[in-house]
Amino acid sequence: MKNIAIFGSTGSIGDSTLNVIRENSERFNVVTLVAGKNIEKLLKQIEEFRPNNVYIIEKENADKIKAIYKDLKVFYGEDGMEEISNLTNFDISVSALVGIAGLKPTYNMIKNGKTVALANKEVLVAGGELIMKTAKESGAKLLTVDSEHSAIMQCLNGEENNKIDKILLTASGGPFFDKEITDEITVEDALNHPTWNMGKKVTIDSSTMMNKGFEVIEAKWLFNVNPNQIEVVVHRKSLVHSMVQFVDGTIMANIGPKSMQIPIAYALNYPDRLENNIEKLNLFEIADLKFEKPNLDKFKCLKLAYKAIEKGHCFQVILNAANEVLVDSFLNRKIKYTDIQNGIEKVMNMYEKRELQTIDEILEFDKQVKEKTKEII
Ligand code: NDP
Repeated sequence: MKNIAIFGSTGSIGDSTLNVIRENSERFNVVTLVAGKNIEKLLKQIEEFRPNNVYIIEKENADKIKAIYKDLKVFYGEDGMEEISNLTNFDISVSALVGIAGLKPTYNMIKNGKTVALANKEVLVAGGELIMKTAKESGAKLLTVDSEHSAIMQCLNGEENNKIDKILLTASGGPFFDKEITDEITVEDALNHPTWNMGKKVTIDSSTMMNKGFEVIEAKWLFNVNPNQIEVVVHRKSLVHSMVQFVDGTIMANIGPKSMQIPIAYALNYPDRLENNIEKLNLFEIADLKFEKPNLDKFKCLKLAYKAIEKGHCFQVILNAANEVLVDSFLNRKIKYTDIQNGIEKVMNMYEKRELQTIDEILEFDKQVKEKTKEII
């Protein structure tokens, strides 16, 4: 029996993870559930999965939970997150908070030498070097549940990364690949993702292709390759989850149904595959697979992500922080759609290169950039 901690249990990845656990209850046991604000959903999860520890942001909500479940350890607030992410009573943790909120808890688990299945890509965007270095020092194992990176990991199948010619990172292209990007785009238009059903922030990031930019950075850290070895390939059907082209010209592709449960189950039970009830692909119905080049002048966020890699670590922190503020403002209907990409570019141009060594320095700089971004809105 593997003990599982889920950071972000009430989100989309949290739902998929709990589905995998529900279907494999003889293998997996939930010990920790971490949520943000959704107390109703968290209460249902507690009732079904009976964890030992839970977290919710507000004290008032924590008190409500405590009143019902007297033996449960309930954490809240900043200190509570620090405590719960330093517990070591789990075999594998799914890191699925959204945005920079996941950086410190994930860092703590990595520092403690634990196995982490990473969904929260912003962790590697803002803290890739520190996370990889810390994992090396502590012996922590970092697995990925992002479908593209899980696909790449499976295509590599343990081969040395000096045999990689390039990584072909697939992208759905989002709702605007065949449309013009204008100021008329509404929140509803941008949330209408053609192939995946995900949390709001990552759905907006997919529409701007910032999500793909983040995944380029994530791939660079996870697979230790140069950014010019990572090529984004638009594949509208989202059935090829990514590919690796090796030095001899062989391309290994990971093709399969569109379900986050597959990469999550693969990480939870790594390296053994689990059976599931997901409908298998019928290649005769699919008939053909098409690949296209993204237009970097149209999807400026993807171009900015490559630029942030070139300019150095602090620009990746800026990219992430500015994006977080601008996407939130767009979702709250305070800015126009094109203000997201234009705003990020503007904020990136406001800074000179600087060194950020520690987790506290990264978090402090993230705060500063967010303030600056709010000023320009
Ligand atoms: P959601 O918005 O659906 O879920 C986010 C989760 O994090 C919720 O449980 C939320 O709690 C919790 N949360 C947010 N902020 C805090 C906080 N400060 N403290 C505690 N809990 C918090 O996001 P997704 O599940 O879609 O995505 C999660 C991460 O995984 C993102 O980084 C995304 O890019 C990545 N990812 C997602 C994929 C997907 O298919 N959804 C695919 C690949 C990667 P609550 O709702 O209770 O407020």
